[in-house]
Amino acid sequence: MAVPKKKISKSRRNMRRSHDALKGATYEECSECGELKRPHHVCASCGQYKGREVMEAGDAA
Ligand SMILES: [Zn+2]
Repeated sequence: MAVPKKKISKSRRNMRRSHDALKGATYEECSECGELKRPHHVCASCGQYKGREVMEAGDAA
């Protein structure tokens, strides 16, 4: 472990970590069926991606 030249206070350390928390996952409406899906992911309910079917509809795998 590195030896700090100046000890960072709990306050300063926590201020630095104020941006570290993970944000919740984002969702958008599928253009084919209107269901919520992750951006840049195949729609889980209709299996469409970029206007064509790439996966069996309704199949999670
Ligand atoms: Zn869809």
